[in-house]
Amino acid sequence: MKRIVILGGGTAGWISANAMIDRWADKDFEITLIESPAIGTVGVGEGSTPRLKLFFDAIGVEESDWMPRCNATYKNGISFANWSTRPGFGRYFHPFASEIDRHTTKAFYFNTYARRQGVDLHAHPDRFFLLAALAANRQGPKPAENFPFVVEYGYHFDAHLVGEYLKERAKARGVTHLQAKVLEVNQADGGDIASLLTDSGEMIEGDFFVDCSGFRGTLIQQILQVPFRSFAENLFNDSAVVLPTEQGPAIGAETVSTAMKYGWAWEIPLTHRIGNGYVYSSAFCTPDDAETELRTALGLLDSDTQARHLKMKVGRVERHWHRNCLAVGLSQGFIEPLEATALNLVCNTIYDFIETVESHGFAGEGRDDFNDRTNQGFENVRDYIVAHYIMNTRDDTDYWRQNGENKNVSDTLQQILQIWKSGKGLSQEMEQLQISSSYTPMSWYCLLAGYGFYPDTRPMPADNPAASQFDMAGIDEFIRRCSLNFRSQNELLRFDD
Ligand SMILES: Cc1cc2nc3c(=O)[nH]c(=O)nc-3n(C[C@H](O)[C@H](O)[C@H](O)COP(=O)(O)OP(=O)(O)OC[C@H]3O[C@@H](n4cnc5c(N)ncnc54)[C@H](O)[C@@H]3O)c2cc1C
Repeated sequence: MKRIVILGGGTAGWISANAMIDRWADKDFEITLIESPAIGTVGVGEGSTPRLKLFFDAIGVEESDWMPRCNATYKNGISFANWSTRPGFGRYFHPFASEIDRHTTKAFYFNTYARRQGVDLHAHPDRFFLLAALAANRQGPKPAENFPFVVEYGYHFDAHLVGEYLKERAKARGVTHLQAKVLEVNQADGGDIASLLTDSGEMIEGDFFVDCSGFRGTLIQQILQVPFRSFAENLFNDSAVVLPTEQGPAIGAETVSTAMKYGWAWEIPLTHRIGNGYVYSSAFCTPDDAETELRTALGLLDSDTQARHLKMKVGRVERHWHRNCLAVGLSQGFIEPLEATALNLVCNTIYDFIETVESHGFAGEGRDDFNDRTNQGFENVRDYIVAHYIMNTRDDTDYWRQNGENKNVSDTLQQILQIWKSGKGLSQEMEQLQISSSYTPMSWYCLLAGYGFYPDTRPMPADNPAASQFDMAGIDEFIRRCSLNFRSQNELLRFDD
């Protein structure tokens, strides 16, 4: 194995190139990346999970270097607005995990337990999480040095600039970059990919190919014919419309996902603008309807700011590594960006692949297990996203009613909802039943409690021990004091200070 060829220079292509050139710096591999400026990249994808930080840490890139160049900001998590109509639960925050949570989750879990028994305790997640308070105050998630707890966080960024940054870095480390359109793919007698013919007449031979060609899946789907499993029966959205707005003086520190008539809209604060987009189902509204609804929400009805319309192919390939080809990014699959998980899956895929190859080689041993793990990762994310839809209580459009009535729910998700309804503890039950989820019980608690997925409460008897179990004012004060260790997003982004 010597020549690795990556087809595609979107974020997936450049993340893959950087990961491989770094991990295999001591190997005699030639890594070539081919991309077509005429085709371009999808150019959206502006929010991350903490997985992106691990990636930058792994390749030794400092925030002070990449963030200012990519107009990036810090992200505490995501606020969900208008998904639930239950009184008091119109909005909730899904925080990234932090060590400090262990001081408050006990109270949160207890209160959700009591509330599921019908006892009227405060059981909305937001007051229990430091990162929810930071997001509400536009404070960034990086604490002062003397704050002795790890706080996980993600980023918002300009996807195009991140691609440029990673391209420059990969090239400086020896990745060969070709700008050309691949017109033909040649296969060897056994079916492996042998070479790519470009529109400049060049034949690029390789021993292993990484398909980062985006939704078209040129190598994995079109040439190798690996079947694509659509998630359309679970997730109705297949389109998006994108519109930027101006950034105000105080930069936010959270993504906001607001339910709309036929989907939901994201709001992502970058340093120089706010990224907005409406993810919707074309079975329920036209692109024009969606654009008008988004423009109205943003106050841009009379503005000449151009909107961009995109189609999304939602699902995954059955095998992400097939023959001498690995698919990474949109070519391997995509789940709508409600929890900003795409680059998380990209990083997981490429690093799992690297580790599998390091233990078993390129020939295919370890490939089936790798494919199973990657599929599981996709299904786990899908289940968490599907939960947002089937638990909605909106009644304003057929879109929401049909989502709420959708019975295409995986066994895993049904089990999780069943545990919740039964009033049992999610952590213990999920562990006992060996329910695999990429999302921690804390994330599930936030989602289920955040929607107010509780039975009707009854007045609590005065002598109920639950009544005085946890002092909410004490928790508020604890979180207020903790938040004194954090600076505003604006201050945090002044890397020169
Ligand atoms: C509406 C929307 C919102 C999203 N939001 C998020 C988010 O918040 N967070 C997140 O993590 N992800 C998000 N994503 C996903 C994210 O955009 C992608 O995962 C990420 O950009 C990686 O894309 P890619 O590199 O796989 O594909 P692309 O960006 O499409 O790149 C494909 C590359 O292949 C090249 N190519 C294709 N065919 C050929 C050919 N024949 N010859 C030469 N080159 C070729 C193209 O030129 C291009 O360089 C979102 C996606 C969509 C659609």
